[in-house]
Amino acid sequence: MSKATGILVIVSGFSGAGKGTLMRELLGQYEGYALSVSATTRCPREGEVDGRDYFFIDREEFERMIAGNEFIEHARYVDNYYGTPRKYVEEQLASGRNVILEIEVQGAMIVKQQYPDAITVFVTPPDAAELKRRLEGRKTEAVDVITGRLKRAGEESELMMMYDYLLVNDDLQESTKKLHDIITNAHARMCVNKEFVSRIQKELRAM
Ligand code: ADP
Ligand code: 5GP
Repeated sequence: MSKATGILVIVSGFSGAGKGTLMRELLGQYEGYALSVSATTRCPREGEVDGRDYFFIDREEFERMIAGNEFIEHARYVDNYYGTPRKYVEEQLASGRNVILEIEVQGAMIVKQQYPDAITVFVTPPDAAELKRRLEGRKTEAVDVITGRLKRAGEESELMMMYDYLLVNDDLQESTKKLHDIITNAHARMCVNKEFVSRIQKELRAM
C-alpha cells in the first residue's frame, strides 16, 4: 500500500490569540508536522528569522511570485501582503506530513476551495479583553497597529462560524494537546475513508 498522504490543517485566529505560540508547542512536542513558511511584505519583528518565520520579501518580489503562480493563495492583511508558497506544501503532504498553514480568514477560504479535505481551526482567546492584553503584552506592535488589528479581529469574527473547529486557547498546554488530537483524529478518519472508498470502487469495477 502506498504511504498515506498528510492532511492540510488551516489555522486562523485573531492577531494575538496565540497561534504562533501554539504552533511552536505543537511542533516541539509532536512528530509528523510541517509548518508552511509564508512570504510577506511586512518587516521582521525582533527575533524573527528570514526563512524560518517568514520569507521577508519586497512588494516587487511578491508580485513576481503571484505572476509565476507560486502561491496557493495570497491576501492583504492590514497594510501588508501575505502568501502561501505552493511547492513546499505539496511536497510535505506527499511525504505524509500533516501540513499546517497559519493564515488569515480570506486565504483560509481560498485554500479550503482548492483542498476540500483540509480541516480548518479557528484559535481564539477566552474573551476580547484577554486578546487586547495579549496583543499589548507581546510589545511588538505600536498602539495604532494594535488598534488596526483589533478592528480586523471584529471583522474576522464574522467568519469564525465557517471553521470546522473553534479552539479556545486558554491554557496553552491543554490547547496544544487538543489541537494535536483534532488533527490526529481527522487524519485517521481520512485514511479509513479513503481506504474504504478505494476498495469498494475496485469491487464495483470488478462486478
Ligand atoms: P498570534 O501568533 O496569534 O498573533 P502569539 O503567539 O504571538 O499570537 O501570542 C500573543 C501573545 O500571547 C504572546 O505574548 C504569547 O506569549 C501570549 N500567549 C499565547 N498563548 C497564550 C495562552 N494560552 N495564555 C496566555 N498567554 C498566551
Ligand atoms: P503577522 O503579521 O501577525 O505575522 O500575521 C498577520 C496575519 O496574517 C495573521 O492572521 C496570519 O495568520 C496571517 N498570515 C500569515 N501568513 C499568511 C499567508 O501566507 N496567507 C494569508 N492569507 N495569511 C497569512
